[in-house]
Amino acid sequence: MKKRFFTAVMAAFVIGNVLVGCSAEKDENNSSVLISQDSYLDIKPQYTLITDDYMYVVDENGDKVRGFFKADIIKAIGDEIKISYYLRLVTAFENIAICAYDEYGADEVKFYAYNCDTKEAVNFYNGKFYPSATDYYNDNVLIRYSDVEYSFTINEDLTYTENDPVNEDFFEILADYRMENPQDRSNKGISVARTLDETGYLLVSAKDEDPNGGDSNRGYFMLKSDGSVTALPQIKGERVTIADYDESGIIYETSKDWDFEKAYCLDTDTLEVKELPWEEQKTSLGINDGILYSCDNTESDVYMINIYDYYAYDMASGEERKIFSTRSVPGSGYGLGRKGDFQMCGDNAFVLDVAGDKIKWLRVSYEDGNVSFTDIDCPVRDVTPLSYGTVEYEAESYVCPKCGKVVSKSYEEYPVIDESYSEHADEINNSLKELLTADDFYDYSDDDCDMHDYEEGLFDTHESLVWEMHVINDRFLTVDMSTYSMAVGAAHGYGTDYQVVYDFETGKRLKNEDIFRGDEEQFKTFIAEKTREYAANSDEDERSRFFSPDLDGIYDTAYEIASFGDTNLKFYDDHLELVYLQYEIGPYAAGVFYIDISYEDFIGANTLTIE
Ligand SMILES: [Zn+2]
Repeated sequence: MKKRFFTAVMAAFVIGNVLVGCSAEKDENNSSVLISQDSYLDIKPQYTLITDDYMYVVDENGDKVRGFFKADIIKAIGDEIKISYYLRLVTAFENIAICAYDEYGADEVKFYAYNCDTKEAVNFYNGKFYPSATDYYNDNVLIRYSDVEYSFTINEDLTYTENDPVNEDFFEILADYRMENPQDRSNKGISVARTLDETGYLLVSAKDEDPNGGDSNRGYFMLKSDGSVTALPQIKGERVTIADYDESGIIYETSKDWDFEKAYCLDTDTLEVKELPWEEQKTSLGINDGILYSCDNTESDVYMINIYDYYAYDMASGEERKIFSTRSVPGSGYGLGRKGDFQMCGDNAFVLDVAGDKIKWLRVSYEDGNVSFTDIDCPVRDVTPLSYGTVEYEAESYVCPKCGKVVSKSYEEYPVIDESYSEHADEINNSLKELLTADDFYDYSDDDCDMHDYEEGLFDTHESLVWEMHVINDRFLTVDMSTYSMAVGAAHGYGTDYQVVYDFETGKRLKNEDIFRGDEEQFKTFIAEKTREYAANSDEDERSRFFSPDLDGIYDTAYEIASFGDTNLKFYDDHLELVYLQYEIGPYAAGVFYIDISYEDFIGANTLTIE
């Protein structure tokens, strides 16, 4: 689990940097096209494709209508957004996007409406905490909590009125129950008003927790808008999880001893229960028009290369078929295939996948077993390593010759740049491959079999991933890498985060000593001074991340570990970054330190050059 967390954090960090840097540019390109589109009336939340930084609106044909970009919205809102990560894009209608700012630790959640034509935003509501759903329905923005659904009319000029809460009588009846959210519609908010109209009932459970704990036999009910109640004793198990429901049926999973047991579909007309043909748990992606979509994530023969099989289960016939598959693409960062990476908008299916050098929403057609993907121009992330060529990998499994167990697996990526970038492309590619792939990662002695008594499927892992590639001044190729190693039984793994630099003009790798103008003693002093300066300018919280908050102590530690060979520098267009990994100048929990340095200070030039 640590590994996944680390990888996700790394990804979030890297992606954050990339998108802030380029989304403004993208917006210029897109907005001129988008503004000329006719207003798109009556958008359902089901017609939005939402990721962290982008919200696209598609039409009934599955074509893009417009896109909203978080960076633009933050610019419009201004200083109130302190941490962009906490601003969530929620829903859209016409040229208005609705967002919620849910800052960790803050005592309220702020709701904003943003007009993408005027580029203005208004804070129209503050809630005590994050609601269960925010939906645009019957011309109003509905914000749903467990006991009330607030309603706002928001006009194009961003004037707004708060209406009376909707369905107040129904919420009085609902007070005796607990609302079961239609959970898996790709995190798209569904209001109670819409659920009652489109589904005809709300799925609820008895309010009191089962005295035995857990969700077992809590008692589920269909609650209709007139207040009539149908008990559903069919839904039972040691633990029950509701996947999703619609007018035709309720999909639920049962588990025993915390392990997946079975998945079922309860027909809401006949109240009969059918078992889904799932031998193992799949990720439920939500119901659309009587079809439950799900994804099964399996490891291929290669560690880190996963296969994502998407399934459609027909709730009426009980038949399930595989509709298409995708697989991990080397160089694209962490895997796709998570909840939210597949979304239905009306009759059209969309999946997030790598196309060219971007991750994009692709429209999937899978009629009669023929699968095709259509690019609808809805990018959500740049995959820079694929801008310069391809990313290849070496993967190995080490099987102990004595006990026959797989004891470790490794996966190492390396970029292969296109020869058009440099006449030394071959030399650079060979050097990168040699540098980034270890000949022999494993070092097990003969008497280790005692330690190989791992549980089935457990092994040591090592992965090395290519995250970002850029070219500075048309000459210097930078490749940002991360590695992560985890031993079975260890409290945590160990990660590195570093960059390698090549010179297109010579084909040579540039090390610190090739760029810094001075000897190693001067380099050590420079690095130590920059580290002390950073600590001196940091607030108390940041300073406390160091092993010792004492500035002279920080200088001494930094001086001690600095060297041409080991100091971790990353080069960018307009500055460089000094990176300290875990344990170097602070405890493991303090994480990684990034210290910005100007080229002026480093080499007395305003950009990266070599002498
Ligand atoms: Zn062994």
